[in-house]
Amino acid sequence: MRKQNRLVLLLALLIVLAGGSFGLYRILRTPYQSGTKAGQLPVLVYHCIDVPPSKRDASKNKDFDYLYVEPESFDKQLAWLKKEGYRFLTPEEVLTWQPGEKAVLVTFDDGYTDNYTKAFPILQKNGAKATIFMVASKLSYYNRLTVDQLREMQASGVWTIGSHGYLHQDFTQLAAEKLDENLRLSKEILEELTAVPVTAIAYPKGGYDETVIAAAAKYFEMGFIALPSQKEGQTQSVMNLPREGVYSYTTMRDFHYLMRQYFP
Ligand SMILES: [Zn+2]
Repeated sequence: MRKQNRLVLLLALLIVLAGGSFGLYRILRTPYQSGTKAGQLPVLVYHCIDVPPSKRDASKNKDFDYLYVEPESFDKQLAWLKKEGYRFLTPEEVLTWQPGEKAVLVTFDDGYTDNYTKAFPILQKNGAKATIFMVASKLSYYNRLTVDQLREMQASGVWTIGSHGYLHQDFTQLAAEKLDENLRLSKEILEELTAVPVTAIAYPKGGYDETVIAAAAKYFEMGFIALPSQKEGQTQSVMNLPREGVYSYTTMRDFHYLMRQYFP
């Protein structure tokens, strides 16, 4: 082989190796660091449990695919939590939870129909519990849970109903009176529906600040945000508990690392 050819071959080999290790790096990297949230309670937030729309129909919009966790993945995640000894909490149990006890709060936002048709049987199969934050003005809307479904979910002992506002609005954008009305109405409507006190709220669109927290504390015992940790300079209380999003792109490996932040 001529010297020149050997050089070209060596160069090609180097490119392949570099590309391969970069691919490997991408597979092995994780955004989660083990033990960094030890002592905190892991709270997960899901939206839809189904095959993403564009995977069912290629002509469908892909923009919201990330909100879909496939039923098979959700089943694997719950089975793993159970196997690892996690206790599935209700919101009330969050208030008495002691750091060190291996537990998790599974939550759902917005109240999509698949939470009843797909998530519910998977939760039952795994002996798990979940909390669902409902937009009180959107009961029985298109692709949203009906009143009958919600009643059945609540009565099963698997689900706890929480508030996600009356309208799905950013609370930081509302005047004091509107904010109070939004909070009060959501609580009244949901409590009338289930005949059970609604004590938890998840702020719609993740919008919260000190004013929102003070207003919500008038009606609710605990509040959940849409971020995995507090914004800089904010102190954590039961009115602004962080949540970890689980998405279509969360691999099983990501999920393990996500949980190991709390329980290494
Ligand atoms: Zn929402």
